[in-house]
Amino acid sequence: MPERLLEEYWFGRTSAEEATAIEEHLSHCPDCLERWRKTQDEIQFLQEMLRAAECPFLERRNEERLPVSGRIRLRILRDSGRAIAVAAELRDESRSGVGLFSRKPLHAGYSVQLQKGRLTLRGVVRYCRPEYGGYKIGIELSAA
Ligand SMILES: [Zn+2]
Repeated sequence: MPERLLEEYWFGRTSAEEATAIEEHLSHCPDCLERWRKTQDEIQFLQEMLRAAECPFLERRNEERLPVSGRIRLRILRDSGRAIAVAAELRDESRSGVGLFSRKPLHAGYSVQLQKGRLTLRGVVRYCRPEYGGYKIGIELSAA
């Protein structure tokens, strides 16, 4: 059975007749069954890679993302005790994190403090990737 057909079957693009024929064939052909399992693993792995690449932090958690915007005060907390202020804009947030836009890059792993109005939060930079005109930064929030 051609590999191509197995892929089409996985993505549900085969007709009902084709699907029945494939299932029938798989039930008595160990070679194709083995290839089918490999194809399944490869496709699943690829899908996970794609998901991870697209949004390493926020979307993986399947949480509702609220569209929010506005300026936010962001400070990088250094071990020396010195805090560096960075201008940032709030892009979106979930229960455990926020997405920001910044003109300057922030390294993953940086401890940061966020301030919006009277609310002060602590967090860690989870990712930073170039976006038009600056950087999209994902921050995982921790208890303040
Ligand atoms: Zn076969």
